[in-house]
Amino acid sequence: MPQQLSSSPPCALTTGPMAKGTYKLSSTFGQRGGEFHRGIDLAAPRGTAIYAALDGKVVAAGEASGFGNWIVIDSNTANGLVSTVYGHMYNDGVFVKTGDIVKAGQHIAAVGSNGQSSGPHLHFELWQGGRLQNGKFVDPAPMLEQAAPTASQDALKMAHAIADCAVKPGAGLAAGKVPAEFVPWLLKGAADCPNSGITAPLLAGQVKAESNFRYGAALVTSSAGALGPAQFLPGTWETWKVDADNNGVADVHSIADAVVAQAHFMCKNWQDTSAGIKSGALIGDAVDLALAAYNAGFGAVQAAGGMPSGGDYTTQTRPYVRKIRDYEREFASTDFEALKSAGQQVDRESKVVQAAREYLGTAYFWGGGNIKGPTHGGFDAPGLATYVTYTSTGGSLTLPRTVQQQWTKGTEVTADRAKPGDLVFSEWNPNGIPRHVGIVISSGVMIHASTGDGKIVEAPIPADAKIRSIS
Ligand SMILES: [Zn+2]
Repeated sequence: MPQQLSSSPPCALTTGPMAKGTYKLSSTFGQRGGEFHRGIDLAAPRGTAIYAALDGKVVAAGEASGFGNWIVIDSNTANGLVSTVYGHMYNDGVFVKTGDIVKAGQHIAAVGSNGQSSGPHLHFELWQGGRLQNGKFVDPAPMLEQAAPTASQDALKMAHAIADCAVKPGAGLAAGKVPAEFVPWLLKGAADCPNSGITAPLLAGQVKAESNFRYGAALVTSSAGALGPAQFLPGTWETWKVDADNNGVADVHSIADAVVAQAHFMCKNWQDTSAGIKSGALIGDAVDLALAAYNAGFGAVQAAGGMPSGGDYTTQTRPYVRKIRDYEREFASTDFEALKSAGQQVDRESKVVQAAREYLGTAYFWGGGNIKGPTHGGFDAPGLATYVTYTSTGGSLTLPRTVQQQWTKGTEVTADRAKPGDLVFSEWNPNGIPRHVGIVISSGVMIHASTGDGKIVEAPIPADAKIRSIS
């Protein structure tokens, strides 16, 4: 029997797999003619754009029985591993390959009618726990309604959705960064606290902060009397002790017992801080507060209504939390790094749209505009490009002043690979030099300082344009 998930749904989708208005829901999730339909069908003309619904990594892209071609994307979400599955594309409608890191809203495929299909549509599935890992399929329809539509005006909403549905470390430990004897117990400890912020990299960071991975004779008992690699005080150990390696004794000095007990204690702290945040009794990040509780006691967190401050809390507890969150990043697998940079790309894109829209309708002024905004009350085309680029990169990229100079920057990308922030060059002179520049803000759409309109407007990307990615 197919399993339906009754517990909490996976993290909300960041975007819909297709732009609103481009499809019709033609078949729902559930029992269908003696079979269980594991996803939903979105009918649309052949070639209609399909977007990645979450940041993630492509773990399958190609032929699959019944699907014609499929794409499977694994995403590490706040609620654990989630896969999104896209089916029925033709060979020329699959734009990603296995191993690609994709971001939510990326154009990954085109609608087809390949495989067991009675007309062009996207068959879309959502799996909690992973498709290739034999997780559970869930109905994506409710999440589709909450997801930001895939359209430029929703890039900001998208960024907010990502904050809620951020890629979290925890997929795994980076190879070779944690002493090997700790690795299985860190993974077991994290597995004992599923769908939480208590991950193997976090626990590894905590062990580093507590004992720097020392144990046995190498570890001197601290002045406070804390013991073992997780630095348990004897009284606390009595509460949390566990015989994780089944050797007949719960030993505070054993890596296995100490790390798994640490994970269980952290899991309880995380549950308490999450509940406190939900009820409004606590303010802050559940993981930060769980770490503070490990260090200073949950009572201190409760009394402060969040992160404790003053005295030792300021000089000791707060630095302890910050340090561990830094270590957590260091210990997270490199796949996470790639996912994180994909997340930063989306963040940048929302800033592009924000910066560009800020001056929509502002006057065109020849020679106007710089990194700070309009000059003489307006922008010309390269002036606007300069402002948007500078602002959306947090000041790290300053373009030269003229279109001709800007044309020498970055690398050319094809239209289907263009992303917000890329520069759109057009109005070619006979020497193949552009006279005009705009900025991509969404698929097929740019914003530019238009001489024709006398102001800053959105416009379709011209057919003869060449696009350059400058970041
Ligand atoms: Zn279907």
